Amino acid sequence: MTGLQDKIDEILARRLDGQRLSQEEGVLLYSGDLLKLGQAAQTLVKRQNPTGQVTFIVDRNVSYTNACVVDCDFCAFYRRPGDKEAYVLTYEQIFQKIQELVDLGGTQVLIQGGVNPELPLEYYLDLIRAIRQKFPMVHVHSFSVVEFDMISKKFRLPLPEVFRLFKEAGLNSVPGGGAEILVERVRKMISVKKASSERWLDVMRTAHEAGLRSTATMVFGHVETIEERIQHLIKIRDLQDETGGFRAFIPWTLSPEGTPRMSHFKPAGGEDYLKTIAISRLMLDNVEHLQSGWLTEGLKLGQIALAFGCDDMGGTLLEDKVLEPTGIEVKTRREDLVRLIREAGYKPAQRNTNYEIIHEFN
Ligand code: SF4
Repeated sequence: MTGLQDKIDEILARRLDGQRLSQEEGVLLYSGDLLKLGQAAQTLVKRQNPTGQVTFIVDRNVSYTNACVVDCDFCAFYRRPGDKEAYVLTYEQIFQKIQELVDLGGTQVLIQGGVNPELPLEYYLDLIRAIRQKFPMVHVHSFSVVEFDMISKKFRLPLPEVFRLFKEAGLNSVPGGGAEILVERVRKMISVKKASSERWLDVMRTAHEAGLRSTATMVFGHVETIEERIQHLIKIRDLQDETGGFRAFIPWTLSPEGTPRMSHFKPAGGEDYLKTIAISRLMLDNVEHLQSGWLTEGLKLGQIALAFGCDDMGGTLLEDKVLEPTGIEVKTRREDLVRLIREAGYKPAQRNTNYEIIHEFN
């Protein structure tokens, strides 16, 4: 064990010396001491951000439809089109939710939903146009890779044309959902009908080339191996080398409760979560921000993640229809995040989607 920890110490020293870590080194880090990994990750954060500022955004998720044909094993949110519980929100319902966000000083809306083949292209484009007109101060960070994949195929539009149309309508950036683990073996097991890993990367590449920046995510703690988690991180890192379009990385663990075919899974524990946070920070040497997953991991663990490589607490979120069926309640407010960041010994600051500070809490 001492020999192994020595080897891991060497890897950490090389990383702190500015060197890039390999697949094998990433895998080996999982055998390392949790606190040492956290310390190394935190050193990198402090170099980038010596002020000790931790940011968050006031935003809102709007799940505009739960009708979906992708049938992911881990999804407790969707209903098949035609199901009596399937819904599509009207524009008025969406505007009302955005108005509530604006009233609370929010700056970003994340509109995302199921892959609903019944919606016309104009539903999306007119919605974006209308939001930009009614709420010009709100950043539209919306629609996942999976929805763009469906839109491209259904309306027979090449991806560059899809992003040209959405950008022209007023879309500001693209959320990083639907990545899960970017390895085909895993996707075939848990989301066989979802865009392949190559397609996910292709959609993101095209969005970045169209001038739309995005985030990237990872959902872990299910059927994937440690090797596959590291492969995922390296795929994100490689695309970032190519485009520079990822603003932040957001890893979170699967919440199995209430899911159609994965409720028997034991959720990943806190140690695994924190280790993965630290290793993400160490592997992703070219992605600036790492978000703590307080929403899925709980506020306390989300707070601890700030000492393991995270520099951002993501969004305040007024609701999350995707997570609520798994038993996760979402009621966090700006004051809660400010308090949590302060309690952890950092300086809270509200940011916009571009990570520009819009309010400091002294
Ligand atoms: S995760 Fe998304 S794509 Fe998969 S079933 Fe749920 S809504 Fe559909």
